[in-house]
Amino acid sequence: MNQIPEDILHSMTHFKMPGPVCQHKENGTIEANETKFTTYSCDTLVLGSGAAGLRAAVELKRRGIDVVVATSCLFGGTSACSGSDKQTLHTVGTSNRGDDFTKMAHDISSGGCMDIDTAYIESVGSLYSFSSLQYLGLLLPQDTYGAVLRYKTDHDEAGRATSCGPLTSRLMTKVLCEEAIRLDVPFLTGCTGVKILTEDGRASGLLVVNPKDKTNQYGLSLITFNRLVLATGGPGELYRDSVYPKACFSAIGMALDAGVRAVNLTESQFGISTNRDQFPWNLSGTYMQVMPYIYSVNEDGDEYNFLAEYYRTTRELASNVFRKGYQWPFQAQRLMNHGSSLVDIAVFFENRKDRKVFMDFKRNPEQVPEDKPFNIEDLDEDVRSYLKNNDGLAALPIDRLRAMNPLAIELYKSHGVDITAEPLQFNVNNQHLNGGLEVDNWGRTSLKNCYAIGETAGTHGVTRPGGAALNAGQVFGTRCAQHIAANISSDKNSGLTEDISGELSNILQELEKAAEGSLSIKKVRSDIQARMSDKTGFVCQADEVAEGLFEAKQLKSDLHKHQLKLESPAETAIYFQCTQMALTSEAILTALDYYIENGGGSRGARVICAEDGTAVPEAAGKTLDELRFREEDLEDRNKTITIQYNSDTENFQTTEKSVNADLELDNIFFEKNWGAYLTGDIYK
Ligand SMILES: Cc1cc2nc3c(=O)[nH]c(=O)nc-3n(C[C@H](O)[C@H](O)[C@H](O)COP(=O)(O)OP(=O)(O)OC[C@H]3O[C@@H](n4cnc5c(N)ncnc54)[C@H](O)[C@@H]3O)c2cc1C
Repeated sequence: MNQIPEDILHSMTHFKMPGPVCQHKENGTIEANETKFTTYSCDTLVLGSGAAGLRAAVELKRRGIDVVVATSCLFGGTSACSGSDKQTLHTVGTSNRGDDFTKMAHDISSGGCMDIDTAYIESVGSLYSFSSLQYLGLLLPQDTYGAVLRYKTDHDEAGRATSCGPLTSRLMTKVLCEEAIRLDVPFLTGCTGVKILTEDGRASGLLVVNPKDKTNQYGLSLITFNRLVLATGGPGELYRDSVYPKACFSAIGMALDAGVRAVNLTESQFGISTNRDQFPWNLSGTYMQVMPYIYSVNEDGDEYNFLAEYYRTTRELASNVFRKGYQWPFQAQRLMNHGSSLVDIAVFFENRKDRKVFMDFKRNPEQVPEDKPFNIEDLDEDVRSYLKNNDGLAALPIDRLRAMNPLAIELYKSHGVDITAEPLQFNVNNQHLNGGLEVDNWGRTSLKNCYAIGETAGTHGVTRPGGAALNAGQVFGTRCAQHIAANISSDKNSGLTEDISGELSNILQELEKAAEGSLSIKKVRSDIQARMSDKTGFVCQADEVAEGLFEAKQLKSDLHKHQLKLESPAETAIYFQCTQMALTSEAILTALDYYIENGGGSRGARVICAEDGTAVPEAAGKTLDELRFREEDLEDRNKTITIQYNSDTENFQTTEKSVNADLELDNIFFEKNWGAYLTGDIYK
């Protein structure tokens, strides 16, 4: 990268978010158990204001729909608060030789467990998603001909990634929110959805906690609507070792509780990143491509060049550190043949020895004993040529970083960490849920009138190219709006029509009882997080998953017997979030246990270790017996595991579904298919 003036770099990481947004007005109160509840209504309620929710909101409003966005935190969640060296938006490649939509669809779904039509929709939809973001003011980098600049990212051999720097998703949130303000979309900020109310098998109301509302002591209010769009992100709070920003609970648990079906809950992403208690950030891309020295330190301050125990030569070690840049998520297949996922495993074992792990940008990788010292000229060919092409051959990692991506330094500096002066502590953390609520091609869930988009929806398979998460949120945010607008007249109803005072009374009784509860919210939350990280992390012992599931069920029964303690009405939102965390955790464990019990092997983000495993990774000449693992059964790629909660029996039902592998495009022609578009048949 050419020398970029400080002020330009600064402006890419320091910008003001828009506001204020217009607040939605209440339309009355209702009463239950002598307690009043403020009420609101709208045609379509979007829950969540990340990039996906805001996309849905502006697309709905442009189509004349009476839409309201309710959100716990206007600029909370992963879109507004996370990033990496350069955050990636994965779309169809527009530079150089162009792209092929069907090829892209096959690439998106190549890890398996993903319908090809979903992948194709994301592929063709990406064109509109990125060009409309440009139209709204997102400054995606271009060449002199107007083509968007591209690079290769995880699970992407074609190079379809683009970026406007480390805060790409925050910038997306910014331009979408600016558009929402221009369009006068009303918001209910500081409102956490806690219970979906249904009528005749369709979503028709939502109970929210709005601490600003003093109508009742809990801040409970009711929103009625005709359609609900869940855009509440992923459940990052589920894991102790997590790179999500704080307070990412998602409403997946709330939806499960309402009986909404979920899919692919077995599939996630884990990777190296700085920890949540410092500044959660992905250490992908250039952070790794400059090859910092990775080491660990024990309690006494002794330093270990631990990667030298895994790679056979200094060249192999350094080249694999480099590859972590674009092979960022842990991937079971990359454990073999001294692949780049051995780095994650090595960090895992250092943690188990109670050592802290760091990367130091002022030092090159230390040599593997009995091999040559690090030499920038002696790297694998792909590594060496990438560095050469990108002016990244300076002597030290920090100088290579300054040359290739100075923003990466600026970013940590803006959070009080100077990586030019001090090493960076990091870990392998949970980063993304690929699965989520099951949706059809228009974002509809199994509950009538309820849609799910963004990370709440389970639109990804076992793997996803880096940047596909943001793209999927934009594509399905648009598609659900199209579907809602197309069905508005044929599917008119008026939110809740039945008397719901009984249901509200039950909730009030539960909260009154909770004041006498004995289980601490803090303790239950940290127990769930520890269980998820220890028993369903990226290194999974087959028998420990069953143990984890047993403990999750035990927690359910404890919650019944002893009840979660509501210390004060101010804790009402977290009370519900914690209960829903318990349910989501049980759902993930149930799905994973089902997968493993049925012989499921290592794939995507998890290595499934078991005595009957057939593969053992090699590390610098020795075998890692502890990591004996089950290999992936390729047949499993052709089906998904879906799961549905029954609140009467309090059990999950697990089902397998075949993946749709046929893309029917040969019969689509203009005259033949135009009619279906004009009559709205395409939405059926
Ligand atoms: C460190 C990191 C780096 C990443 N890098 C990339 C990348 O480079 N490319 C990529 O494609 N993806 C990346 N991802 C994933 C991607 O950022 C997320 O999947 C995406 O931003 C999710 O967007 P969303 O709109 O679905 O949810 P979010 O942006 O998380 O927004 C959720 C919204 O819902 C609100 N909310 C939650 N629960 C409730 C509730 N019950 N009631 C009311 N409101 C609620 C929140 O306040 C928030 O406003 C990364 C993730 C992390 C953690």
